[in-house]
Amino acid sequence: MAEPDKKSYYCSICKKYHEIVLKKELLKNRESFPFSHIFLHKMELSADIDDIGADILTTLFIDANLAIRGAEVRKLATTDIIAKDDFTNILSQIMEEMGRLQDSLNKLQHENKALKEENELLKRKAGK
Ligand SMILES: [Zn+2]
Repeated sequence: MAEPDKKSYYCSICKKYHEIVLKKELLKNRESFPFSHIFLHKMELSADIDDIGADILTTLFIDANLAIRGAEVRKLATTDIIAKDDFTNILSQIMEEMGRLQDSLNKLQHENKALKEENELLKRKAGK
């Protein structure tokens, strides 16, 4: 029997679906959706044996229903310490993605507003 909060996302590095439990608490104090949930997981499969167990920075984009809208994965250098350059790259990638999502959110909100106005106009016309 599947647990309600158990979700899966496709990891293009391990080339498989990973399961993850998303707790409802994650939704608390969020101002906008989808939000990004960032964590590390270990690489499970690789043609290169040295890569197994490497840290993979995972960014999930989660909506208000705890559904995973997108997943981004990035292999970190096989050291315990995140190199400063790596960190800067990761951060800029995340910021880029956030910007992209913000843009589509703005567009949707704009379209929603336009539709509401059109709906009001139609209602008023029908009322006469
Ligand atoms: Zn993976």
